[in-house]
Amino acid sequence: MKILVLNAGSSSVKYQLIETEGKEVLAKGVVERIGLSGAVLTHKARNKREIKLTGEILDHKVAIEYVLSILLSPNHGVLKDKREIDAVGHRVVHGGEAFSDSVLITDEVIQELTRCIDFAPLHNPPNLKGIAAAKALLPGVPQVGVFDTAFHQTMPDYAYIYGIPYVLYKRHGIRRYGFHGTSHRYVSKRTAEILGKPIEELKIITCHLGNGSSLAAVKYGKSVDTSMGFTPLEGMLMGTRCGDMDPAIVLHVMAKEELTPSEMNTMLNKHSGVLGVSGLSSDMREIEENYHTNERARLAMDIFVYRIKKYIGAYAAAMNGVDAITFTAGIGENSDMVREMVCRDIEFLGVKLNREKNKQVRKQEAIISQDDSRVKVLVVPTNEELVIAMDTATIVANLVQSKA
Ligand code: AMP
Repeated sequence: MKILVLNAGSSSVKYQLIETEGKEVLAKGVVERIGLSGAVLTHKARNKREIKLTGEILDHKVAIEYVLSILLSPNHGVLKDKREIDAVGHRVVHGGEAFSDSVLITDEVIQELTRCIDFAPLHNPPNLKGIAAAKALLPGVPQVGVFDTAFHQTMPDYAYIYGIPYVLYKRHGIRRYGFHGTSHRYVSKRTAEILGKPIEELKIITCHLGNGSSLAAVKYGKSVDTSMGFTPLEGMLMGTRCGDMDPAIVLHVMAKEELTPSEMNTMLNKHSGVLGVSGLSSDMREIEENYHTNERARLAMDIFVYRIKKYIGAYAAAMNGVDAITFTAGIGENSDMVREMVCRDIEFLGVKLNREKNKQVRKQEAIISQDDSRVKVLVVPTNEELVIAMDTATIVANLVQSKA
């Protein structure tokens, strides 16, 4: 099947056209600066050079129209007719408690997603715009929603309920949801496949370390805990997000600095984390380069690594053991320095890193622990688009079967 995968953000739409039989990316790209001056479409079809087109792109519908026209273009396209697109798979950030799996998008699903806007006011509205645009431009083509939160719906209640009055959970849905679920699901499944063992027998800690970072404890194929919470702000020290801290700090800083809730929100999400501590950059490459010469870059990196280690210890305890630790996303796939620092001094857990192998691995699947390491350490590049395409194809195939 040919599946168009869409990831609609506030001012961008990322896309991939995937042929699911061969798991092949036929074309991919991104439209940026939607609704702003100088919008850009960057497009790359298989075996062709990358192109960039600029123009006025008013909204998500125009953006997706533009994507379809480039996919159909004689020079840069890969389709002769838009009817070749069998279905559209949408990345949706927040599915609340309603969705523990990917679903065919119906009017009821859209209603439910609209109810989830409260939980993800920055992410769900553009996701919904992408769905509406794709429905209008590809009428009759099945649309599937794949949720960042869905994989973590298997967490036990004691992992997702916060220590505040229980009525707030009932009244406002305040609980841990977790994010990056599509990535944690893919990476844990690949880990089992690479190790040649059934996932139902493995305890895996997946470390998604990118600009946003989260860890997940995946026991026998199910997420039993994860570090992001009600929003993606909790847990690790991230590029610009603070991660874990005493909630009383929020009230104290708001009073002392005379900040509004919106200003405080911006501080915690955009001016904190690695950027806030280092005062230098949110980019881990720059932090690495300055680690030995800049005290605050050293501090930001040490906090970043220390938190990952703490959570690895916590999740090993939560699962009564760990068989594999897997690194993924921009930092996890590329930074041998971070991987080495995380795996240093946790030999007591049964982790023995192969330091030479670790140094050589960039953006590729590999086992980077020593042969006699009880806990296997892996690098697995994440591939959320492929998961979205495969889920979409499965749902559409079942739909066709049930109609037959
Ligand atoms: P992501 O959000 O998964 O795209 O990851 C973005 C993060 O990956 C940024 O903080 C980058 O600095 C980091 N990153 C990308 N390449 C490298 C690299 N070679 N070494 C260290 N960090 C990297």
